[in-house]
Amino acid sequence: MNCTKCPTSTRAVIGLPRHNAAFCKACFITFVHEQVARAIKSFKMLSPEDRILVAVSGGKDSLALWHILLTLGYRADALYVNLGIGSYSEESHRKVRHYADTVAASYGAKLLVHVVEQEAGAGIRELATILHRPTCSTCGTIKRYQFNRAAIEQEYDVMATGHNLDDEAARLLGNVLHWQNDYLDKQSPTLPASVEGFAKKVKPLCRLSEREIAAYAVVNRLDYIVEECPMAKGSKMILYKEVLNRLETESPGTKQRFYWGFLDKQAKPDEPAESMADKDQRTLVPCDSCGQPTTAGTCTYCKMMAKAKTAAPR
Ligand code: SF4
Ligand code: ZN
Repeated sequence: MNCTKCPTSTRAVIGLPRHNAAFCKACFITFVHEQVARAIKSFKMLSPEDRILVAVSGGKDSLALWHILLTLGYRADALYVNLGIGSYSEESHRKVRHYADTVAASYGAKLLVHVVEQEAGAGIRELATILHRPTCSTCGTIKRYQFNRAAIEQEYDVMATGHNLDDEAARLLGNVLHWQNDYLDKQSPTLPASVEGFAKKVKPLCRLSEREIAAYAVVNRLDYIVEECPMAKGSKMILYKEVLNRLETESPGTKQRFYWGFLDKQAKPDEPAESMADKDQRTLVPCDSCGQPTTAGTCTYCKMMAKAKTAAPR
């Protein structure tokens, strides 16, 4: 199989059935950068002078995103939240630190780290048990809170996450299957900042599949953690991804048509975007403990931390 783009027909390193194309290493890297640049432009994600905070986990998507943004010339720092999940967290922390020291530092970019155990007195699994909450929901609350807080307090213009086409298509399938209209309203690759204190959030990898990002990480020799978080086992998202992968094999381009078709429809909403944002903003007030936006007097994060400290005093 030869590269379909090179005039010299160099040997291809990857075939992309959904684009009816195959690329050599150089053309594939260009393809990935172009897809990210297109997403950034069409969804008004970033401007060249923005200070960006990338949410990194040590996995291929977030490290590839940090790498692509730095390579494209953006000013991008990163935040890693250490969840305290035994060897998984130790290994992912090492991978992030390695990239930060060996590559990101040469672009003048820095890594911020939040260690859950230091603030909560316990890792995420123990914390979930103390709080009688599912681990992933506890984790989601903590990560959303820490990323937003770091972005706001350290005056970043925008927060970027490594969600890819597979993640977004699987999430869309879940939201449609359960007709979760609130989530569907918010499933956009760009969420604007709110006056109440939510940072702008963007997903620049939304045009690229998981396989394409894994290949990009390999050809760029990015050292990422291959192992999934052990808590993800048996999750609905994994099931939705398997179903979509099956459809994609039978009919290449299914995920792209499903998700991009949704984004096209979302671009012409029945209800104007501003009025949906207003509806959300009316109900938000600053948390009386930390000042982050919340619907009640004290935010969920502060309530969780207070409960954790009472239950497990240090
Ligand atoms: Fe957090 Fe659950 Fe994802 Fe693990 S699988 S990182 S615990 S949300
Ligand atoms: Zn709070």
